Amino acid sequence: MSAPATLLYLDGITVSFDGFRALNALSLIIEPGEMRAVIGPNGAGKTTMMDVITGRARPDFGRALFRDSHDLTRLDEPAIAALGIGRKFQKPTVFETHTVFDNLLLALAGDRRVRASLRGGASASERERLAAILDTVHLAEHRHRRAGALSHGQKQWLEIGMLLAQEPDLLLLDEPVAGMTDAETEETADLLRRINRDHSVLVVEHDIAFVRALGVKVTVLHEGAVLAEGSIDHVSADPRVVEVYLGR
Ligand code: ADP
Ligand code: MG
Repeated sequence: MSAPATLLYLDGITVSFDGFRALNALSLIIEPGEMRAVIGPNGAGKTTMMDVITGRARPDFGRALFRDSHDLTRLDEPAIAALGIGRKFQKPTVFETHTVFDNLLLALAGDRRVRASLRGGASASERERLAAILDTVHLAEHRHRRAGALSHGQKQWLEIGMLLAQEPDLLLLDEPVAGMTDAETEETADLLRRINRDHSVLVVEHDIAFVRALGVKVTVLHEGAVLAEGSIDHVSADPRVVEVYLGR
């Protein structure tokens, strides 16, 4: 099998809500292995774009091709997850009364084996995978703590770890550093760069310092379409971007 030329190709996606175009002929290409940051003012359509990719919103027009061949606009949410696309929402949804380790174990096992996996504990190979994930998300020392006792930032990392346990090829993250301290934000940029070594990532974020720290190509969305694309320095110098977003 030859490698796909593009991982994700949003081709002229339009999504309307009561006649209002949240996405307006949006086109975007993500290369295999790439990490892309998407910025833009409130209401630009960033979350709706994620909704289209994960099958939660149906476009009126356009295609969303994954690995050149699967049109995501024709698939439902479980089928899209099974193709290897995982999403983290803004609000953490960890099981607060379970330990960090058990949260990851549950994510690894999937819904069906929830009870059995907690009773039976983890197998040797599961332990190995979980140890690697705990290292990646910097929670190894906290693995026996209840998730409810973690800081806001640590909960976000745990949730990213739970996403990794499902082994997606492409991770979608919607505002992962919202509410984090500056130190947590910096650490999250490191964490995503580590994750990007073997996963593709699409991250929506408002925090420009964070996006700068990622050091990746940036897409600026405005009124449901791409306004500018390039390095953070390139897009920050674009007068249209300053006008609609950065200058506010
Ligand atoms: P962003 O994430 O960039 O802030 P969104 O994708 O959430 O923007 O929203 C884009 C626009 O679409 C906004 O004007 C929002 O009010 C509208 N919108 C989003 N979802 C819905 C919905 N389910 N029903 C009606 N309007 C919606
Ligand atoms: Mg949003």
